[in-house]
Amino acid sequence: MSRDFLADFARMSTFGATAGGGVDRQAATDADGQVRAWFGELLAAHGFTVEQDAVGNLFGRYAFTEGAPYVLFGSHLDSQPLAGKYDGAYGVLAAAHAAIRVIEAHRAAGTAPAYNIAVVDWFNEEGCRFKPSMMGSGVVTGKLPLETALATTDPRGVTVAEALDRLGARGDGLLPEIAAYGEIHIEQGPSMQEAGVTIGAVAETWCAFKYEVVVHGEQGHTGSMRMADRRDALLGAAHVITAVNDLIGHFPEETLHTTVSELYLEPNSPVTIAREVRMLIDLRAESTDELERAYALLRERIAEIEERTRTRVEFVSDSVWRSAPFTEAGVRLVEQAAADLGLTHARVKTLAGHDATNVKDLVPTVLVFIPSIDGISHNEREFSTDADMLAGLDVFTRVVAGLADGALDEAADGAGS
Ligand SMILES: [Zn+2]
Repeated sequence: MSRDFLADFARMSTFGATAGGGVDRQAATDADGQVRAWFGELLAAHGFTVEQDAVGNLFGRYAFTEGAPYVLFGSHLDSQPLAGKYDGAYGVLAAAHAAIRVIEAHRAAGTAPAYNIAVVDWFNEEGCRFKPSMMGSGVVTGKLPLETALATTDPRGVTVAEALDRLGARGDGLLPEIAAYGEIHIEQGPSMQEAGVTIGAVAETWCAFKYEVVVHGEQGHTGSMRMADRRDALLGAAHVITAVNDLIGHFPEETLHTTVSELYLEPNSPVTIAREVRMLIDLRAESTDELERAYALLRERIAEIEERTRTRVEFVSDSVWRSAPFTEAGVRLVEQAAADLGLTHARVKTLAGHDATNVKDLVPTVLVFIPSIDGISHNEREFSTDADMLAGLDVFTRVVAGLADGALDEAADGAGS
């Protein structure tokens, strides 16, 4: 018997639940551990073999044919601080339910699809406690070395390896070889609701350049130090923050999104001028050309800021994802599934990054969106309707069935072009 999706969604949302109706399940925290344990049991109860890999990805395999390759479906159960309960988690649960439906249908009919089916909760998609984001899928797709991921520390100095070990979440499983990947997610923006569309077939993704930057100044007394002698790192940082926002003035409206999203201040003491500020600059646009231009403009502005505030701005690391279209055959599969179910649908682009953004560079990948009411996300007020969640699940069930039957095999043959 198929499980009741909404009942499972309500149960899942109790792990790390916040007073404001959201969840707080940052990667490898107790709440993340609890929801992972619950999810692993759900998969095991439906005949999946459940494992964890070296970077904490949690996955279940269901083999119709021993030795046959797999198709994989999933998203992430971790969240931002004080976040919504739909981001990622909806997609993980929908992947499991869709897979279970397809498996049950094959068993009832006495048939087997071309591919075995696996479901994954990617570790640390959000990248808030441990940077960068999309960590688990980044390691599996070879974009991030495992050792680098495991050695990454949170702001308190705890490494990913230590945090995973505390939960017993570092395993020796290996994700099976996959032929295709599918993910369903909330849109996290307002465009689908505004257009009155229930199902989004994601055809392209924005690119992102993220830079970890350190503003170096010199510590001093806020009262006694002469203004002319100061090298105030926080003042330099303030100028950088406004310069990042000012970049949008050089581009057509809403074609460049810029943010300084994180700030650490040393020593962060009332009577002391800051000696160092560490910040995260996040630039997003449709093409890397636009981001290169924004970055060049920013470096010019920063040179002026350094001179004016007598600080030094160091770019210590970057993380980049480039735009690439999603497999056309996968987009058409989603459109067809929605049309067959009598659901409104449209081609959309994703401005946010997803694990699918990583995996699509490896194998043909399908990404499906359902609407986010008022486009609110990374916020406890994030909301998608039950009707849209269930419609998405129905579409995604067809995506799972289609990929398991080899719907993207031709796209895979053409890959690499
Ligand atoms: Zn997400």
